[in-house]
Amino acid sequence: MKSVNIQELLRPNIRGIAPYSSARSEFSGTAEVFLDANENFRDFLGKQRNRYPDPFQRELKKRVGEMLKVSPDRLFLGNGSDEAIDLLYRAFAVPGKDKAVILPPTYGVYKVFADLNDIEVVKVQLQSDFSLDVEGIRRVASEEKNLKILFLCSPNNPTGNSAALEDIEEVIQFFPGIVAVDEAYQDFSSSPSALSLLDRYENLVVLRTFSKGWGMANVRLGMAASSPEVARVLQNIKYPYNLSGPAQEEAFAVLEDAERVASGIQEIIRLREELIGNLKTVPYVGKIYPSDANFLLIQVGDATRLHDLLMEQGVIIRNRTHEPGCSGCVRITVGSAEENKKLIEAMRDIADGGAL
Ligand SMILES: *Cc1c(COP(=O)(O)O)cnc(C)c1O
Repeated sequence: MKSVNIQELLRPNIRGIAPYSSARSEFSGTAEVFLDANENFRDFLGKQRNRYPDPFQRELKKRVGEMLKVSPDRLFLGNGSDEAIDLLYRAFAVPGKDKAVILPPTYGVYKVFADLNDIEVVKVQLQSDFSLDVEGIRRVASEEKNLKILFLCSPNNPTGNSAALEDIEEVIQFFPGIVAVDEAYQDFSSSPSALSLLDRYENLVVLRTFSKGWGMANVRLGMAASSPEVARVLQNIKYPYNLSGPAQEEAFAVLEDAERVASGIQEIIRLREELIGNLKTVPYVGKIYPSDANFLLIQVGDATRLHDLLMEQGVIIRNRTHEPGCSGCVRITVGSAEENKKLIEAMRDIADGGAL
């Protein structure tokens, strides 16, 4: 059990901040006549779109809590997990003073939101096999002042590998601030989740999303699981109605369909393995990194040229050659059988034409 003084870790202006108290958050009983929120009594679409949604998302948190096996008072729900990333900076890091640690090559949003919040980023690059440089992180944690938050992505984007849970736990133990473990791709992984560590470490925040395995990127719904104290802080500083009614309804609907989602995930994993087999037959494809996610990082030599040539054929992949440790690499999302077939055909055409 690691006990951290969350209050001390918070930005001073966030300690004890009074959240906006909306009409809908003040009233929690039952009534027939609601004249407290300046809503329109007419509902033009016939779906109760005239009423504000529950700012605490109580019912949805109960359902999501069952799905993750996490108690609802440990949950924050947001407009994508990107909202949780931004809120963690705003809760814990003082602009122009505090620092965050990121572990490149990794998800670009951590740096973008650090820049937006005027938070200096300290980088500890992953090792050449993309495992965590635990000793490098330890060194930074002991040498640098004002470290408030560390983002650790597992399975990692764009490399696709999972970090070892023992390494993650070690980092949580020695890091002086919040450790946010971004598990956006955990649904595709057979490695253990950091959720199992949640009740032992108050400085751990686990990020999940409905955007990948659940197929709901359009809806914008992400989750953060943490200590109840951190969950309360995020609840207090978010936009009062950060999740729209339609988004909450779509989440209920897909959670009812969890079995189809689970078999959809198995299908993607099958297609990933099939894609690996087909990529191996393309002459200029070098290393294919092992993936616990719904994408593959592969070495192709001239990544920029491959990206541009595929684009000419209407196939869009991500060029990652400028990411540290990813020279000559592209990231390819596992698509449908049909999409993957088009990709492979286009890649073979490029080889046959001698263009790469
Ligand atoms: C896609 C992705 C997310 C998801 O972001 P949302 O805002 O929930 O759509 C989070 N983290 C990583 C590493 C991702 O690749």
